[in-house]
Amino acid sequence: MVDFWKRIKDTLLPPRCICCREYVERVGICDSCWGEIKWISEPKCEICGQPLEFETCKYCVAGENFFDRVVSVMVYEGLARHLILKFKDQDTTLYAPIFARWLNRIIQDFSQDVDFLVPVPISSKRRFKRKYNQTELLCLELQKLSGLNYEPRILEKIRETAPQKSLNRKNRLSNLRKTFSVNEKISIKDKVILLIDDVITTGATANSCAELLKKAGAAKVYVATLARVILKSSAANP
Ligand SMILES: [Zn+2]
Ligand SMILES: [Zn+2]
Repeated sequence: MVDFWKRIKDTLLPPRCICCREYVERVGICDSCWGEIKWISEPKCEICGQPLEFETCKYCVAGENFFDRVVSVMVYEGLARHLILKFKDQDTTLYAPIFARWLNRIIQDFSQDVDFLVPVPISSKRRFKRKYNQTELLCLELQKLSGLNYEPRILEKIRETAPQKSLNRKNRLSNLRKTFSVNEKISIKDKVILLIDDVITTGATANSCAELLKKAGAAKVYVATLARVILKSSAANP
């Protein structure tokens, strides 16, 4: 029956590529747009996911990151960047199930251990302006695909992040520490958390959320993002 309705829908509204509107077999992107995106593959730091020639980058070796592993789908540039900006700023909620499919693929290694699926929160002010938090949408779709337990109340954003650009690594972290808080009503003791965000840039936000979650008792914090900014090695990580 589902197939029947899907066939009718596909005949009336055949699926198109979300980038170039070309007709495709299944909702998503066409082969030529697929070829334009830089998908992230090995080699990369086994902890923070930063592409590099060694197994673990110097920040992760030094134990400066609180998360246990970061995985990302694609490099944040060109078409990938365009798609994500559109997803964030326009009413393109139809991207969420497609992006969730891609995310589901890259969390397979550890998803069986995960207790809670948690979006990186945005402040209520930003949420009001935007009408929705795109990371929450991603989580909802990912929950459908993976069966993971979605819990958006664990992390809260308690204030706007002050501009990070002028701060050094240490000050950036302490700046962020006052930005998020963990909801004490939900016990995360010995639980494994999977944090979801759209883009990871320096990793400072993910790291600061991971630090709070670990201090609240979380056993492990994994991070999965749609895209990551590739930084020069000196600027990598928070
Ligand atoms: Zn296309
Ligand atoms: Zn690393």
